Amino acid sequence: MKIAKIETDYIQIPLARPFKTALRTVESVHDLVVRITADTGEVGYGEAPPTAVITGDTLGSIRCAIEEFIAPSLMGMDVEDLDGIMAKLHSCILKNTSAKAAVDMAVYDLYAKQLGRPLYKVLGGRRNSLETDLTISVNPVEEMVADSLDAVAQGYRILKVKVGKEGLADVGRLEAIRQAVGPDIALRVDANQGWTAKQAVRIIRAMEDKGLDIDLVEQPVPAHDFAGMQLVTGAVSTPILADESVFSLEDAIELIRGRAADLINIKLMKTGGIYNALKICAVAESYGVECMIGCMLESKLAVSAAAHLAAAKGVITRADLDGPGLCSIDPYIGGPDYCAGRIVMPEAPGIGITGVPAFGQG
Ligand code: MG
Repeated sequence: MKIAKIETDYIQIPLARPFKTALRTVESVHDLVVRITADTGEVGYGEAPPTAVITGDTLGSIRCAIEEFIAPSLMGMDVEDLDGIMAKLHSCILKNTSAKAAVDMAVYDLYAKQLGRPLYKVLGGRRNSLETDLTISVNPVEEMVADSLDAVAQGYRILKVKVGKEGLADVGRLEAIRQAVGPDIALRVDANQGWTAKQAVRIIRAMEDKGLDIDLVEQPVPAHDFAGMQLVTGAVSTPILADESVFSLEDAIELIRGRAADLINIKLMKTGGIYNALKICAVAESYGVECMIGCMLESKLAVSAAAHLAAAKGVITRADLDGPGLCSIDPYIGGPDYCAGRIVMPEAPGIGITGVPAFGQG
């Protein structure tokens, strides 16, 4: 089975409500989709969102990287030569991790289809379902409490609360949410680089003193501030999760060996796809560090590729795959089943998505 055609197109899906973090506000998912067609007629699909504030990638840069660099490099390669394809994909252009991720997942989709197996079983097959959190955007506290109660009513048992904009006032937000949802709902906190290291220590200790029972705090300080991550991780007992600080395997090794995070957040758009994410899984596993699988503002296609990876690997103990849950509609056919916090993997070959609303298909 050889790669015969690599095409790109766009999809746009409105969000159920605006998504707000310390870094940005977004109202719809507007992503690039990739379709790789093999000489047998079989197709593989991938997707990449333009998360310029995190990855530096835009819709235009993703499309250009694929059409002008990646597609010509991979054309004609045998899908069975997965290792060779990945070596080419990662050497034909530097950075551009979102473009690489979209192509990587389309290649893995085809690879698993060729084997006639669902992707999560090809990658390791650890379990066939996952539990994800749902993100609560940064808003006035009453709105965040209402959104949290609404999520719990929908069936979510884990909430990821976005903070990082108001220093110590963020503690009040968490306190109000904890009071409203009760002790049985897990609360994760994502500061999206919004604090200095000393601020972070003060805020997280205040949360600990109030007994808010926070599952983890994600990326308290700026991405490049590894020393700050180390300071915070060493100064509090709440687990610290590195997100924007870790793109590559080398980042993960530096953070883990420097004890600059307790947990690693793997996102395909940062690693450049599943192939490199598997390397981070291997290193984290060997050091006994658990991982979370996360996503950007992605629709069901890219999130499903991440779900297959998470279902495959035991070292991925937490899932933050709420992209489909934030979208107002599901325009795809097939794939994992997303029902409130529960993700159930499909048994169809590949990623399992058979209908993608692009490429003139509606
Ligand atoms: Mg994050």
